[in-house]
Amino acid sequence: MTIQEQYELLEKTVRSYNPAADFDHIRAAFEYADRCHDGQKRKSGEPYIIHPLAVAQIVAEELKLDSESIEAALLHDVIEDTPATHEDVARLFSPTIADLVEGVSKLTRIQYATKEDEQMENLRKMLIAMSKDIRVILIKVSDRLHNMRTMEYQSPEKQKQKSLETMEIYAPISHRLGMQRIKWELEDLSLKYLDPVGYEEIITRLESKKAEYDAFLLRTQTQMDDRLNELAIEHMVYGRIKHPYSIYRKMFNQNKSLDEIFDLFAFRVLVDTVGDCYNVLGVIHDIYKPIPGRFKDYIGTEKPNGYQSLHTTVMGPDGLPFEVQIRTWKMHEIAEYGVAAHWKYKQHGQGAGTEGKYEWVRRLLENQEGADAEEYIHSLKVDMFADEVFVFTPNGDVQNLPAGATPIDFAYAIHSAVGNSMVGAKVNNRIVTFDHILKNGDIVEIMTSKSAKGPSRDWMKIAKSSEARSKIRQWFKKEKREENIAGGRSSFEQELKHAGLSMKDVTDSENLPHLLKKVSYGTLEEMYAAIGYGGFTAQKAVSRMKGELLRISRQHQAEELTVKPEEPPIPVPPRPMSKSEQGIIVEGLDNCLVKFSRCCTPVPGDEIVGFITRGYGVSVHRADCPNAAPERRAGQEGRWLRVTWGSDTNDSYPTTIDVVCKDRMHLILDISTALSSTNTFVSGLNSRSTEDGFAVIRLEIRVRDGAQMKAIMNKLHQISGVLQVTRPAG
Ligand code: MN
Repeated sequence: MTIQEQYELLEKTVRSYNPAADFDHIRAAFEYADRCHDGQKRKSGEPYIIHPLAVAQIVAEELKLDSESIEAALLHDVIEDTPATHEDVARLFSPTIADLVEGVSKLTRIQYATKEDEQMENLRKMLIAMSKDIRVILIKVSDRLHNMRTMEYQSPEKQKQKSLETMEIYAPISHRLGMQRIKWELEDLSLKYLDPVGYEEIITRLESKKAEYDAFLLRTQTQMDDRLNELAIEHMVYGRIKHPYSIYRKMFNQNKSLDEIFDLFAFRVLVDTVGDCYNVLGVIHDIYKPIPGRFKDYIGTEKPNGYQSLHTTVMGPDGLPFEVQIRTWKMHEIAEYGVAAHWKYKQHGQGAGTEGKYEWVRRLLENQEGADAEEYIHSLKVDMFADEVFVFTPNGDVQNLPAGATPIDFAYAIHSAVGNSMVGAKVNNRIVTFDHILKNGDIVEIMTSKSAKGPSRDWMKIAKSSEARSKIRQWFKKEKREENIAGGRSSFEQELKHAGLSMKDVTDSENLPHLLKKVSYGTLEEMYAAIGYGGFTAQKAVSRMKGELLRISRQHQAEELTVKPEEPPIPVPPRPMSKSEQGIIVEGLDNCLVKFSRCCTPVPGDEIVGFITRGYGVSVHRADCPNAAPERRAGQEGRWLRVTWGSDTNDSYPTTIDVVCKDRMHLILDISTALSSTNTFVSGLNSRSTEDGFAVIRLEIRVRDGAQMKAIMNKLHQISGVLQVTRPAG
């Protein structure tokens, strides 16, 4: 066939399914590609244009794609292999076609090496992730199919390598996109080079038995035909011998010789309606004895790739089992051409489909063969490609990183030693900055040096993966202890000064053990080190120590007051060491049960009074609680006691705040932001709207003391729309 004849065949094929195709553009694409590839030869010695023409023929014949795809298939090697550029193609044809060609070229540039299964799965995902437009992968698969068909001209080494790639990457992708015919052909062609002896054995055997097998196929087909005609079921039935790779796999999996594989035949019955599918099934099971456990209803439950059919295996009259697949014509088209069939249906609708409509195709990749319906639903919810990026190491391993990942993430994903000694990074052979965002298919190389200074603190902000961040933190923790301690100490001191507290009180040998307990560190040095490497913050340290330190400084002030020089020093009688209960000292009573009143929820720092309840110990109220008001005390003065806060108050006390505000959107959000910014533990939040457009919000929180309480109330007051912040009592 001359090149002109081949081109005419292409036009004829396209016209047969798409008479409205843009034949002027298709011809222009052919002529442009022919000019670009002029003088180039294939390994077979033929002019290069034979190849793009053949790929376009596959795209038309096997996949029945739109005009743009045919043009892109004709042009698919011009950017990669000729001086033509993306701009040229965009200008002469269209930006979309240029993108399709560029997409195919990108996939072509990917280098594979022999890999373990997990790597292969990543590669398949990467290919789809890079394709963006599903037509790119469809053209790429067609390109591969033609290259496999003409593989005989390549060196044995290249044959093996390409066949392995095809078997591991392109056949599974074709399967998951539902393109059975292409998948079979890719598998058979690959097998031919991967195991020539096994392949030859099967082919020879099938050929030697051809007459026998053909007779069986015809006999059985006629039997089914007759019966279905009797019942007036509109249908088409045909039989085939299973394809060589599927026989090969059976031998391999079941460890059987070719003679022992008897399940070699498959029949297919095509009908018009789903109802007829089940009618035919009944007829088949009536003629032949079904083999138990082999019936599968993929109509009721379709496969993740959209495949629908009824499958059953029955025993033939001569004791030969065979499989029967029953489906409608429409199911058949989708089974044979897969996503391409969907694509075509869309094309017949209004204009070109958008890639958005094909999101599901990408998700399909998640589904392993035979995944059931439930898993399918699950995987639909997970858009794995939105938050992942796939990049290569220089020797072809795929690294899977979170989207937005940088060379820092990459380096630490390889090994923490690589990250720690990183001095530079290259992406696709060009030096990049450490905050460079990696893209699918990038080849990333990390330059390391023994004299590297190690990570910098900025890296923690640049890194996208928690793995990298935690490895960087580890390094600072271990390698920079001295610096961490110095840095941690200075920020702690600063923070302390900021809060108006004294370092002397911290280091005081009497106070220190209490303070360290509050922050859960054994020594100050340990705490400084933690602050230094970022495992703890100076703010947290000070806020946890604050209560204790404030109490100490108040005590100092009190002591200073008592030794005022103007007054004669009065010996202070040793105060009876009263033990406190929950931080409360009840005058004159040790070890008594203390509870905090629910009406006014006092916290340390509040003026308080105690009331002896009947049987529940002492109930502590705020002095300003209406329930403790003098008029309420009438008649039971004797039961009111003086109580004070002790030195060993609890870490926190439950209390209540009421907030009155103008109701608006995001109010609760702002309130909770204020609470979390003050490190407030919230145990309850109750909001009700009043008829006049106000909201009353009751917050149940836990606070350490009155100071924290005040800070929280101030913060709440600053929120826009907040009118009143109060502590309810009474
Ligand atoms: Mn090609």
